[in-house]
Amino acid sequence: MKKYVYFFGRGKAEGKAEMKGLLGGKGANLAEMTNIGLPVPAGFSISTEVCTHFYANKKTYPRSLNAEVVAALKKVESAMGAKFGDPKNPLLVSVRSGARASMPGMMDTILNLGMNDTVAGGLIKKTGNHRFVFDSYRRFVQMYGDVVLGLKPVHKDEIDPFEIIIEKKKKERGVHLDTELNADDMKDLVGLFKKAIKEKTGHDFPEDPLKQLWGAIGAVFGSWSNDRAIAYRKMYDIPEVWGTAVNIQSMVFGNMGETSGTGVAFTRNAASGDDMFYGEYLMNAQGEDVVAGTRTPLPISDLAEKNPVIYKQLDRIRHTLEKHYRDMMDVEFTIQEGKLYMLQCRVGKRTAFAAIKIAVDMVGEKLISDREALARIEPDQLNQLLRPVFDLKEKESAVKSGRLLAKGLNAGPGAATGRVVFNAPDAEAWKKRGELVILTRIETSPEDIKGMDAAEGILTARGGMTSHAALVARQMGKVCVAGCSSLEIDYATHTMTVKGKKIREGDWISLDGTTGEVIEGKVATRPSEVLRVLVDKSLDPKDAPVYQQYARIMQWADKHRRLKIRTNADQPDQALNAVAFGAEGIGLCRTEHMFFGEGKIGPMREMILADTVEDRKRALAKLLPLQRKDFEGIFEAMNGRPVTIRTIDPPLHEFVPHEEPAQRELARQMGTTYEKVHQRVESLHEFNPMLGFRGCRLGIIFPEITEMQSRAIFEAAANVKARGIAVEPEIMIPLVGNVKELAHQEKIVRRVAAEVMKEKGTKFKYLVGTMIEIPRGALTADEIAGVAEFFSFGTNDLTQTTLGVSRDDAARFLIPYVEMEIYPKDPFEALDRIGVGELMKIAIAKGRSVRPDLKVGICGEHGGDPSSIEFCHQINQNYVSCSPFRVPIARLAAARAALADKPAGGTRKKAAGKKSPRKR
Ligand code: ADP
Ligand code: MG
Ligand code: MG
Repeated sequence: MKKYVYFFGRGKAEGKAEMKGLLGGKGANLAEMTNIGLPVPAGFSISTEVCTHFYANKKTYPRSLNAEVVAALKKVESAMGAKFGDPKNPLLVSVRSGARASMPGMMDTILNLGMNDTVAGGLIKKTGNHRFVFDSYRRFVQMYGDVVLGLKPVHKDEIDPFEIIIEKKKKERGVHLDTELNADDMKDLVGLFKKAIKEKTGHDFPEDPLKQLWGAIGAVFGSWSNDRAIAYRKMYDIPEVWGTAVNIQSMVFGNMGETSGTGVAFTRNAASGDDMFYGEYLMNAQGEDVVAGTRTPLPISDLAEKNPVIYKQLDRIRHTLEKHYRDMMDVEFTIQEGKLYMLQCRVGKRTAFAAIKIAVDMVGEKLISDREALARIEPDQLNQLLRPVFDLKEKESAVKSGRLLAKGLNAGPGAATGRVVFNAPDAEAWKKRGELVILTRIETSPEDIKGMDAAEGILTARGGMTSHAALVARQMGKVCVAGCSSLEIDYATHTMTVKGKKIREGDWISLDGTTGEVIEGKVATRPSEVLRVLVDKSLDPKDAPVYQQYARIMQWADKHRRLKIRTNADQPDQALNAVAFGAEGIGLCRTEHMFFGEGKIGPMREMILADTVEDRKRALAKLLPLQRKDFEGIFEAMNGRPVTIRTIDPPLHEFVPHEEPAQRELARQMGTTYEKVHQRVESLHEFNPMLGFRGCRLGIIFPEITEMQSRAIFEAAANVKARGIAVEPEIMIPLVGNVKELAHQEKIVRRVAAEVMKEKGTKFKYLVGTMIEIPRGALTADEIAGVAEFFSFGTNDLTQTTLGVSRDDAARFLIPYVEMEIYPKDPFEALDRIGVGELMKIAIAKGRSVRPDLKVGICGEHGGDPSSIEFCHQINQNYVSCSPFRVPIARLAAARAALADKPAGGTRKKAAGKKSPRKR
């Protein structure tokens, strides 16, 4: 018979960390912590298979489940020496959801379950602690009422009915905090809560503990398909079929008085990565009190003074956990009358800064290998290291002039400037109209996720470093200042008051998430440490710890990757930046960008509008020295690295003026009439320029253009070589679909090369190749490779032509398409592996069948996308080419692809170029 329930307790568990798929993350780690001897209250997990069964069978359970639950409950009872529902010696439990991937705050936990009037009476006898018992009881009724009986408000403006009752009670009693209510107040609350439940639902509150238990189990499984959970799953690509597990665990109580408490902690600093215990706790508190933001918790370092015995024990557990899991962990603990219990652990979410520092440090501590370090850093996280920070001088002067509004917790590092909005839907709407916004909330909740995603930065008035806002911001890589208690936020009027100043919706503020400062108005930013070292060269690497970590990661990445990384650049300064970021060549130099440079657009226009070959040649002759100079600059910057130069590609009408005054001016320059210019421009009009007179078609109809460009490239090569700099030009012909097109152009290129070598009395190596960017090119790649010495996939056009989708017109249907999962991601961002990828595989196989050493690269936008880079690795390309600022990301992505392909100690999973997995 299938096993659905897994027990943990008394130092032994049926589950383990590897069983996350079955037990969920929480259940698997509770089992693991039990097995490594940490103090975990006994309990059991109901597997995710029951969730699957639940949804496949009209929300019912497998037949054998009941008996398994009863048996597991018995084991828990005997481990804890108490009985569920027994008034003399009652066992209370928590019912906790736990999916495979952690979904913070997505599904609700119920504490103190098993409580009723008789049990409460028994518990009072046992503990002599009235207040504790009724505090636990009222919490239970509230949580059960909210989660299981559905009293929790759905709309963001509604208030929890139980909170209304509590507020009324506090007013009556003239107190401010829940903790100031006494035992009798709590007892009253229980009665009032139950009455409210009866009024709202028409049913009495269930007194039978078993009935409570099954109600709670059903609610946890039910919550897998609530709106919040669905939204979160969408955002983080968590498949619906995974399901959630349910954990039932005996309660330990942090609310038994001043020797009890509860807390959350990270084994290292989740924002900076520093190796220090990092967390918060509250005495005489239960469950979510620490993260809810209603009471401000104390830093864990205080515990070292106030309760050194517990602190030492916790600190030992911190080291045990890091040694065991070999990662930074996030833990929950409770102290019951001086005794410590561990209630949860999982790999801790962290900022990009922290991820990199922790990975590098742990390699240094020999906890992990460099390969593991690379596997732990998402390529896109490197972006955060390249992002600007506030200009310190500007910030100081802002602070001096009294613009420092407040200081909160530095929950998400980085610099953000934007306009204040006070709720998530506004953040989304403003962002849609192109505004930069700072989402400002008293505290955030999972309903705010989309708004947080839309915001540049997040600012909250309440909550600590482990509050929802802080957690989610770090995960998203957002700037966040949390727990800024001096902000008085008024949702109703969309304003906040701070330091006597009124800040209105739409006002500019700036957040320094690294220091926690909130500054009025805009503050200028400046380049990151990495950029200052590599690009500006204004900072010594010695003084740049963040840069040093970056450099280690890059060094490891380079050791493991097989793909070469090139860059798309057409100016010497761009090329130099890219080289500083580690580019090993240029994969795409777009010559047409050069035509827009100073002094060049005039002759270019003359060339385009010329009537005769002679006129055109005259104009081209003016362009030749200008292009030659450009290429010399590029070759010098690349200093011997390969440079792929594409001959002219875009439709000619993109270069000519379309407005009358500009056309008149051009006519004057060319010594001709406005009418003639106007008429020539009109004649260049095309219905579908993307498929029109462009690419190699230009060079075939006007061979003198290709001739001029080749000459400019080769003369530049000869000149630079004469200055002692190695050159390796690769001439790339765009938009080839038929080998004859390429052959036509190749002939010109090779003739000019020979001429230049002869004229200059020199020799240089060069290659002639083509872009593969229309399906016919890919399908006839064997013919094409007979001429081409290299292929470069132009995946922007290849995606357009394969999907039959014009990228410029696609937004209105592609965005809904992705939402409807017709395509898993925007195919212009992440390569469509199944369709476009198939053509790429065909092209490589056919091309290499006639030219085994054919060099293959990619120069479309996808060349900087980590998932597309992984695919390029899998299909055995030689290199990827991306924009300069994505080069570090591409280096890391290429290394991760290589490591995934070649597990430690093993051999390659699959033969090169063979079937690669159709991952989506
Ligand atoms: P989440 O998934 O939202 O973190 P949890 O299941 O971890 O929810 O529970 C919410 C809070 O209740 C946490 O602070 C947790 O430590 C506390 N809690 C859960 N189970 C118990 C228990 N058996 N005894 C004491 N506290 C518990
Ligand atoms: Mg938890
Ligand atoms: Mg193209």
